[in-house]
Parts: sequence; C-alpha cells; structure tokens
Amino acid sequence: MDRVYNFSAGPSMLPESVLNEAAAQMLNYEGTGQSVMEMSHRSKAYEPIIYGALDLFRKVLNVPDNYKIIFCQGGASTQFAAIPLNFMNGSGKADYVLSGQFSTKAYKEAQKYGDVKAVASSKEQNFSCIPALDKSQFRPDADYFYICQNNTIYGTRFTTLPDTGDVPLIADVSSCFLSEPMDVSKYGVIYGGAQKNVAPAGLTVVIVREDLLGKARDITPVMLDYKVLADNDSMYNTPPCWSIYMCKLVLEWIESIGGLEKMQLHNQKKAQILYDFLDSSSMFKNPVNKPDRSMMNVTFVTESDELNAKFVKEAAQAGFVNLKGHRSVGGMRASIYNAMPIEGVEKLVEFMKAFEKNN
Ligand SMILES: *Cc1c(COP(=O)(O)O)cnc(C)c1O
Repeated sequence: MDRVYNFSAGPSMLPESVLNEAAAQMLNYEGTGQSVMEMSHRSKAYEPIIYGALDLFRKVLNVPDNYKIIFCQGGASTQFAAIPLNFMNGSGKADYVLSGQFSTKAYKEAQKYGDVKAVASSKEQNFSCIPALDKSQFRPDADYFYICQNNTIYGTRFTTLPDTGDVPLIADVSSCFLSEPMDVSKYGVIYGGAQKNVAPAGLTVVIVREDLLGKARDITPVMLDYKVLADNDSMYNTPPCWSIYMCKLVLEWIESIGGLEKMQLHNQKKAQILYDFLDSSSMFKNPVNKPDRSMMNVTFVTESDELNAKFVKEAAQAGFVNLKGHRSVGGMRASIYNAMPIEGVEKLVEFMKAFEKNN
C-alpha cells in the first residue's frame, strides 16, 4: 500500500520530510554511531537536541522570557491532576468551562483537590458549540480559570478567550498547538500532548508563567511538580528523548515553511475547502455552531448511521483513513493538522462529491 491520507485525531500524520530525515539518521545520528533512541539523555550528543528543541519551541511560538517551557510525559490526561496539584494553592477554588469530554474529565479530576465550579457548559447542546460565558459567574478569587481551547472530539474551538481579569487562564491546547500564532502572554499556563500536531506520542509540553511556579501542594508527586521539572531543564528523570528529537525536527519544518503565520494560512485554507463543501452538500452536514468551528478537527454526518459506515469504509479503501468519528459521537471526523497537505483535503472533497453522486 502507498502512503495514505491519514485523518486520525491523534497520533496523527507527521510531515513526510521529517519522517525521511529521522529515517536517514536512524542508525547513526550525525556521526555518533548511535541512534537517538539509544543515547543517554545526559550525553554531549543529546544536549543540543533537547536544548535545541526547547529554544526552537520558544522561538516558533514566540514564548516570552517570563515563561518556562517543560517537556514531560503522561499525556494531557496526567496534567488534569497536575494542574490543581500545582496551582490550586490559594483559595482552593478553580473555574472550568465544560466544552467537551476532555474539559469534563479535567473538571472531574480537579474536584478531588478542591472547590471546582463549572461556570458554563454546552453539554445540553451535545457540545456542538462553545457555551456562552457570563462573566458574573466567574469567581475573582479562583486560583485559575480552565478551558479546553480546541475540542478535538466535537470539532469546536474558542475563537476569543474569556476575560478572566487577574485570574490566570489555563488552556489545554493539545489539538491546536502550533497550528497558528498564539499570544502566550494572555495565559498563565498552556499545555498539550504532542501526538496531535507536534511530535509522536510520549511527549507533553507545558508552558507556565514563572510567577505561578513553586506553590505546589505538599502532596504533589515530585514528577508532577512543574517547578522541579523546570529547574532541572526537563531532565529530572529520563525525558521522552526520541519524541523530543522528533519535536525538534517538526519545529525546524515549521520554520522552513515560514513559521506559524504561514502554518495558519495553510490550515485556514484546508478548513475552508472542507467547510465550503459541507455547506454546499445535500448529503454531508457539519453539526457544529458555525462561529465555533474548529480549524483542526472537522466533524460531519450524513442522514443515517448506515450511510456513515459505508462512507468510512469506502473512503478507507480509497486511501483516506481514520475518518470515523469519536466513539462517543459517531459520524465522521477529518483531523487536518499541520502535516495534512492541502492536496489531501482537496482529494477528500473530490471523493465525497463522487460518493454523494453515487448514493
Ligand atoms: C487527545 C486530547 C487529550 C488527551 O490526551 P492524552 O495525551 O491521550 O492524555 C486531552 N485534551 C485534548 C484537547 C485532546 O485532544
């Protein structure tokens, strides 16, 4: 089989040039006689890889100097606990917006540690929109305010950030990391698992404003204490060496195509091609509130589960794989992260047009 167009929500496509480069260096990284997979993380050869990746992350995302970048493990889901354990340390209160499954999981995990309030929820709309926010519901003494910025399963995203005043905003950006420029200074913390848009699975990236560090609870496991991780340059213990190396190659690739401004244009174009088709189709519909449409995860349905299943099957046979929606919502989802070429989306739309005609 040739390489397919992979619309998986994560782990997901990586740029082909990155995979080729990793393959070329697989057995013997820059004349060291070793693979990066085999290297000590304390070695002279590995040092430029991890520090290079940290520096490049800062440069590409334009992360201000008063923020620490931490490479860790455990995925986004581990941070659901790490966040209250590091930051719910003043009033013991935190406000959450429930805009999907991942923010609901984070909210439930945080309830183990303090007074957690759901300030808004779109559950009744089956998470097909970002809930309206009423600022009078926000608690000014909360230790932080939490959102999931792009809702991977439902295909929605925040297009404007909530105004939380002096309360630090914390955002799960797992499925929109590095997809467009971000004003990091608007956040207290941003974090995400790398396997959607940044690197293979195994790496989690946490970006924390410095003044929020150092207030972890006594019971916080040392491996979840962001200050310990930051103070040790993300090498308190063995970091996910290979994923960090791949992250560096992905960052170099983003730079080579012109940085996040160019990435954003590329991503906007793909999303527009797909949404324009969905809006004109009489068979396929996007079930999401228009202004909240995600640029990364595009959900769609036909009138019946049978037709959905037929579509997913025939698409896979034609080389468009992993288009089945999340098991909790059904239908279809095309995840069109950075590495998906425009051509992949154009060909998918051609295929959908033909399917519509034949069915
Ligand atoms: C995938 C995803 C998660 C879960 O990530 P893991 O790394 O598997 O724990 C959490 N939040 C969002 C927004 C996601 O897309």
